Amino acid sequence: MTKKEVLKKCFGYDTFREGQEELIDSILQGRDVLGIMPTGSGKSICFQVPALMLSGITLVISPLISLMKDQVASLNQAGIHAAYLNSSLTYAQYRKALEYAKQGRYPIIYVAPERLVTEEFLDFALQVEISMIAVDEAHCVSQWGQDFRPSYLKIVEFIGKLPKRPIVSAFTATATREVREDVMAILGLQEPLVVTTGYDRPNLYLGVQSPKDKYATMRNFIERHPGQFGIVYCATRKLVEEISERLERDGFSTTRYHAGLSDAERRGNQDDFIFDRKMIMVATNAFGMGIDKSNVRYVVHYNMPKNLESYYQEVGRCSRDGEPGECILLYSGQDVITNRFFIENNQDNEELDEDTRELVMAKDRERLKKMTFYCFTNDCLRDYILKYFGEYGANYCGNCANCLSKFETVDVTEIAKALIGCVSAAGQRYGAAVIIDTVHGANTAKIRQYRLDENIYYSHLSKVPTHTLRAVLNFLLMNEYLDTTEDEYSIVKLTGKSRAVSAGKETVMMKLPMASELEQQAKMERKGKKAAAGGRVDNSLFGRLRAIRSEIARAEKVPPYIVFSDKTLEHMCVVKPQNKSEMLTVTGVGEYKYEKYGERFLKEILACEE
Ligand code: ADP
Ligand code: ZN
Repeated sequence: MTKKEVLKKCFGYDTFREGQEELIDSILQGRDVLGIMPTGSGKSICFQVPALMLSGITLVISPLISLMKDQVASLNQAGIHAAYLNSSLTYAQYRKALEYAKQGRYPIIYVAPERLVTEEFLDFALQVEISMIAVDEAHCVSQWGQDFRPSYLKIVEFIGKLPKRPIVSAFTATATREVREDVMAILGLQEPLVVTTGYDRPNLYLGVQSPKDKYATMRNFIERHPGQFGIVYCATRKLVEEISERLERDGFSTTRYHAGLSDAERRGNQDDFIFDRKMIMVATNAFGMGIDKSNVRYVVHYNMPKNLESYYQEVGRCSRDGEPGECILLYSGQDVITNRFFIENNQDNEELDEDTRELVMAKDRERLKKMTFYCFTNDCLRDYILKYFGEYGANYCGNCANCLSKFETVDVTEIAKALIGCVSAAGQRYGAAVIIDTVHGANTAKIRQYRLDENIYYSHLSKVPTHTLRAVLNFLLMNEYLDTTEDEYSIVKLTGKSRAVSAGKETVMMKLPMASELEQQAKMERKGKKAAAGGRVDNSLFGRLRAIRSEIARAEKVPPYIVFSDKTLEHMCVVKPQNKSEMLTVTGVGEYKYEKYGERFLKEILACEE
């Protein structure tokens, strides 16, 4: 079979996505590769397709048991023999799997890194032909990555023990230069073909809001997405508990996930979500790695995450099948404080020596700053992210909150002067909130206590709404007209550029939302407008196909999306295939899956026609 035939027959797809073909070709020519592709872009196909074409076994190294299980279940559903070897197996199961593997039953075997150099596994590895080692989540070898795992270093040790060096392919979603270089050096990739694919996920709507009442805003948002699956990310375990309880009380089908729950409960809750038994997963960032549920239609960040790497990885779990999805971030100033606390008290860093630790912390603070600016920018949000990852965006994506809002460019010099003047007159001793309160003329205990009501800028801009003052202050920070200290107090300081503004030598122009736009947004929030049902697909047919899928999933004890993705079902509704060959044109329907389930879906579609 050619690679195209494998793609169609085994996976049911007609075309390769960006980067896949190049990586596969290179592997088939025996050359190492490094694939840097965002979450949801289809990294697995890049090693699974060649694995089925190479003569020997492909070992896939993966950090998480859940990830292995999911991928192996998917492969088995597609009629491909694959197995995993990790600590979730009993010893007897492990022995049996190795026995089958020796007989050549599995072209693909998922292995936990710490297994590799055990005596038993090495003994096995020396008896069989290993064509390729595919390292998934390869950034785990790097100390600079988000997720350093010392056990990943065993991969290199293992490769060194093999009589013949297999092809080594590595895949990650982390694109920073340090990580990339670390991966190549540590894994010892030999003249690898490095492919970086676009980070853009145009199907995801991106939005940021700073609501007064986060919970109400989120509930409103969820109500506008009836019947859809979603993830709500919270910064802390405590908040996960609180929010999931509230949602539950408000009648939403909710489950939760964080590191404080027992293994069994975590697993159970995760399954409830993956198997479509619960609609909403409220979780900390501990949830999601390796989750391939393709019909998650929204991701709400109840708090701002600590950096854009995490943010983009987390929103990457939205609509992995390419259908439209919505990602909104609910920002508040407190999020910055929480994240700063996490950075200053990072337990993971305890193994590092003092200098490295300082370096890591400095990097983390810088990342947090960039994340914070994301929440303030009035420019295209997608563009901001793509630029962060070193790509060029189009300045206008048409599918983010900023691109869809009406802005006007406004001269804010007078406001800027007052804010900078106030910072200076108050001796550069206060945070943003106090400065804003001062120029706005708030009468709070704090203001009186610090005697800021005696500041010459006190009440200077009492007519300008505080959200505008905040927007301007943020703009000044982003453009270095002002700066903040890196400690937990975040005190606003003057910079070299401050003077030019206060001396009247520089005009400050910025984009601000038009007044009509703000009214519109407020109205939308009040109304809790229902989202349009997106009349493209025949919903009743879709509903029936979904029911069949659920039945099959239950019977086979696999998550529904592993039977067929939403996208595949929707495509069926559009194509309305009348026979086998037409059914095979549906994306995601391969020969094997057709044999297993095709008839049942076909029958339902034909019945609907009558
Ligand atoms: P990740 O890069 O995050 O590991 P996956 O490999 O899990 O992504 O792929 C994400 C989704 O995209 C899966 O549902 C997969 O089946 C689908 N996919 C991968 N390659 C293709 C393709 N060439 N055509 C259509 N869908 C694809
Ligand atoms: Zn945009």
